[in-house]
Amino acid sequence: MRLIFLGAPGVGKGTQAARLSKLHGVPHIATGDMLRSAVARKTPAGLAVKSYLDEGRLVPDSVVIDIVRERLDEADTRAGFVLDGFPRTVGQANALADVLIKKKSELTRALFFSLDESALVERIAGRQSCPACSAVYHLVHYPPKRKGVCDCGAMLIHRKDDAPETVKSRLAVYHNETAPLIQYYQAKNLLIQVDAAGTPEMVASRVEAAIPASACGG
Ligand SMILES: [Zn+2]
Repeated sequence: MRLIFLGAPGVGKGTQAARLSKLHGVPHIATGDMLRSAVARKTPAGLAVKSYLDEGRLVPDSVVIDIVRERLDEADTRAGFVLDGFPRTVGQANALADVLIKKKSELTRALFFSLDESALVERIAGRQSCPACSAVYHLVHYPPKRKGVCDCGAMLIHRKDDAPETVKSRLAVYHNETAPLIQYYQAKNLLIQVDAAGTPEMVASRVEAAIPASACGG
């Protein structure tokens, strides 16, 4: 299965991608995590993207495309992948299509997670992330077993780009840059809308229903 997960920041697609990855044994490729890791390691690409992430702006297509292209060349993507956070622009979607054509491969589905804006803001404000394993929790809706500590044992952090003042700018960027992808994948007959309201378990069963059985490899 080769899936992309679309939706606004805070919609819960990272949680669903991580779950699906475990269940079906395909890598969860979270471009946000890949970029943040490059920033933390202070690689040349990392230093270049730091200012964009801090300000809630989109990282330039060319940087993101290079990172994703390299990742899709790794052997563990042969059985498929779940792309979370990419593509974010039509330019990135076209680049992804080129990469897949060269691999004689194609997308299975594009899942669009939908949720109203007030619910999005509430979800992002309560979010805590694990810097070690990239798990994402929510103070109210999806708490870790121990307060402030990931189930993997690492201390949780509130990401800088989840701060209330950057949330509004992230949602504005999303509406301008990413929303056109919904029409893009609809035109290719790949889009399925998933209602992202409710508990992670409720959303997970909608995700399963949205994936064709033929893509699950039995
Ligand atoms: Zn963790």
